[in-house]
Amino acid sequence: MGLTGIQIFKLLPKTNCRECGVPTCLAFAMNLAAGKAELSACPYVSDEAKAALSEASAPPIRPVEIGAGDSMFRTGGELVMFRHEKTFFNPTGLALKISDTDSPEEVDQKLKCFADNQYERVGLNLKGDLFALKAESGKAETYAALVKKVRDASDAGLILWSDNPDMIQAGLAERGGSKVLIYGANSDNKDAMFSLAKEHGAVLALVGNGLDELKELSEAATKAELKDLIFDSGARTAGDQLRDQTAIRRLALQAKDRAFGFATIVPVCDMAETPAKEAVLAAAGIAKYAGIVILSEFQGQYLFPLLLERLNIYTDPQRPMKTDEGFYALNDADENSPVIVTSNFSLTYFIVSGEIENSRIPCWLFVKDTDGLSVLTAWAAGKFVGDAIGDAMKKKGCNDKVANKKIVIPGLAAIISGDLEEELGSDWEVMIGPREASFIPAFLKQNFA
Ligand code: SF4
Repeated sequence: MGLTGIQIFKLLPKTNCRECGVPTCLAFAMNLAAGKAELSACPYVSDEAKAALSEASAPPIRPVEIGAGDSMFRTGGELVMFRHEKTFFNPTGLALKISDTDSPEEVDQKLKCFADNQYERVGLNLKGDLFALKAESGKAETYAALVKKVRDASDAGLILWSDNPDMIQAGLAERGGSKVLIYGANSDNKDAMFSLAKEHGAVLALVGNGLDELKELSEAATKAELKDLIFDSGARTAGDQLRDQTAIRRLALQAKDRAFGFATIVPVCDMAETPAKEAVLAAAGIAKYAGIVILSEFQGQYLFPLLLERLNIYTDPQRPMKTDEGFYALNDADENSPVIVTSNFSLTYFIVSGEIENSRIPCWLFVKDTDGLSVLTAWAAGKFVGDAIGDAMKKKGCNDKVANKKIVIPGLAAIISGDLEEELGSDWEVMIGPREASFIPAFLKQNFA
């Protein structure tokens, strides 16, 4: 169990020097106890205090990394039960299962699906994260060949999936330099799996038959000095999964039981007969509290909604999603194209840019930085006003970019037209656009076709 804030405070230097970023040692102690600060932020903690505080300062759910370099996948490290309490940090990993009994054509097809199914959204690249390579052939050389093939084709992280230590050993020999997840250790094979994980510096998934067995495995792994662990409770129905995922998260965060302070893995590919049902189970896992879900296929019609769900759940609810300020050329805009202006709330940007693209009329879209607020809210907050928009446009070179000098402002913000014209100069014509984005194509066709 963790220490209280007061217990931690007694071990700190009590100089209130502020170097940790908070005004007092007491405030820092309270943040440490709540898992909101790292002990390393205080440079003056003695070695004795460090040893005493190590348990209290460790994150309640241990973060782990799988893979290498830019493709490194991170899970764990969460601090809250509910997203609105703070935020969730490390998005649920989406892993694609490949079996060593799949034909070479099937393996090639899955590798292609993994590489092809990537989506650009709000400036982010949404894609799957990991390969889960399952040893089902019973032949070590076949499994090793699959690991090598996938490793050579992709830099995504690997899950080596078998309860047979010989298969894992064969896969580890071909893993390259990246950190893998061994999936996994159970009550029967744990000694051999513990040795392999230690020897190869791998993350180890513990597979229990219920939470009691999981706790025993966790304590045994900790005793064997293994720290990077992931949990599979063994549940294979939707209801049991939801119950276990919630219980593990509660035990880690609320009961502060260190034995349960680990991320989880859910093989939805073993829990459903169709990709659609897998997607439903994966969606539940993303919402409640899976660290990794394993799918049997990456079909775009199921993967894309899961990626969007994940994006929404793992964005910071206290920070709106924003687009960068600047000019965006749409439909091959040139110097004769009009300028449409909007705010940098990402949803607004995507709706407005989508309607302009639908119109097929070449336009410049000027996005004003409003700290992620929508048009009306930004106007009320003084961030979407005529002089500020005009000034931002000039700084971004509007007079060099646009000879047409016609600018369309949102109908809901018609009140800013005078200030904007004054700021840009009388050679600019400010036009009042529609109040709803859906009327933009008709407006553009009527005025600029
Ligand atoms: S850096 Fe350390 S000594 Fe300084 S205020 Fe923070 S906790 Fe106290």
